[in-house]
Amino acid sequence: MEASLLHQDAVVIGGGFYGCAIAIYLARKRGFRRVLLLEAEPKLLQRASYNNQARVHNGYHYPRSFTTAYRSRINLPRFVEDWPQVLSTNFTKLYAIARRNSKVTGRQFERFCHEIGARIEPADKTFKSLFEPHLIEDVFVVQEYAFDSSKLARWAETELRDAHVEVRLNSHVDSIARTADGGLSVVICPKSGETYRTEGRYVFNCTYSGLNQLSGDFPGTQTRLKQEVTEMALVEAPPELLDVGVTVMDGPFFSMMPFPARNLHTLSHVRYTPHQNWDDQPGVDPYERLRRYPRETRVDRMIRDVRRYMPAAARVKYVDSLFEIKTVLAKNEVDDGRPILFEKHASLPGCYSVLGGKIDNIYDVFERLDAESLIDTAY
Ligand SMILES: Cc1cc2nc3c(=O)[nH]c(=O)nc-3n(C[C@H](O)[C@H](O)[C@H](O)COP(=O)(O)OP(=O)(O)OC[C@H]3O[C@@H](n4cnc5c(N)ncnc54)[C@H](O)[C@@H]3O)c2cc1C
Repeated sequence: MEASLLHQDAVVIGGGFYGCAIAIYLARKRGFRRVLLLEAEPKLLQRASYNNQARVHNGYHYPRSFTTAYRSRINLPRFVEDWPQVLSTNFTKLYAIARRNSKVTGRQFERFCHEIGARIEPADKTFKSLFEPHLIEDVFVVQEYAFDSSKLARWAETELRDAHVEVRLNSHVDSIARTADGGLSVVICPKSGETYRTEGRYVFNCTYSGLNQLSGDFPGTQTRLKQEVTEMALVEAPPELLDVGVTVMDGPFFSMMPFPARNLHTLSHVRYTPHQNWDDQPGVDPYERLRRYPRETRVDRMIRDVRRYMPAAARVKYVDSLFEIKTVLAKNEVDDGRPILFEKHASLPGCYSVLGGKIDNIYDVFERLDAESLIDTAY
């Protein structure tokens, strides 16, 4: 084994946005000198942090969960300040309210936006004319942005290097165990080469869908998780939809948002984006399940329904689909809320599990980390 890998101040498992941001935080804000980041894929930010809708939330999406909405509203300006280079703001964001089967009316939506302090204005005639008036009750212009996940990955690579975090790609972690001297031992299976071990005072499990797939002494999360195979279609928008992002609330809803990393739009639909779901359990590896899943697109069904509300959608050109596992807290199935999961495992001191839920929740995670008295001396 390489000596440099033997003792770490912290080992971070999972090189998505959360693992990268936490590794950088530990090195820069907490003075950790030896931080090791382990990622199963050949590159950083390839999984949920790339395969998502790229929306920087500002609360509008969550009329059924005031806390999530309010936190998004607070976190958006901070995200805008900290990651201006990844933002795409050059489009108009519309929220439209369906007349039938919607869990919210136009009036209620407007009131809710005022309550959380999020900007909202009635859309003008040109934007309203994009929608079928028999099916859409009201249309609003709001302040919501998209992020470029490729640029976010580039930010992570640069910052990790500058913060002297050691990054090991193609490195799948199998287990975490207690060591006799009070540390934590992590077993790593590289894609090529032999299994090896490293030790750290702290281990941060930031594996998103894989949170409960680690063996050894890892106890699993107390919070129950739900796994979902999702499909986001990538489409070329027709000219009148090119510079807009649309979300129809809140029941029969769909979204069509710019996806800056590919210069396309994502199309998601509440009925067709989730293909399959199950209660998370150890031994049922979601990544493996997705790997074996026959990825048959449902884009035709998405478009068929979306064009009823927004006729121009009939002319979108399908390019590709992003299939990914979406992991949510089981308790939020009803209200669609997206709080963070931040668990400190009492039976495995020094080990934390973190799930962000959405990108801007990083600030909620930083707050929780700030409150932890992490020791920065070498192990
Ligand atoms: C379909 C979909 C749409 C979404 N839309 C939005 C949106 O519009 N806006 C928003 O803010 N959020 C959205 N989200 C949520 C957002 O994508 C996630 O909150 C965020 O990307 C999670 O980051 P992460 O680092 O926790 O997970 P990931 O980016 O998935 O990173 C986890 C990493 O851990 C690695 N890993 C897993 N197991 C192991 C192991 N055993 N050993 C080593 N490495 C391992 C994985 O390879 C992966 O790279 C969406 C998610 C999905 C799936």
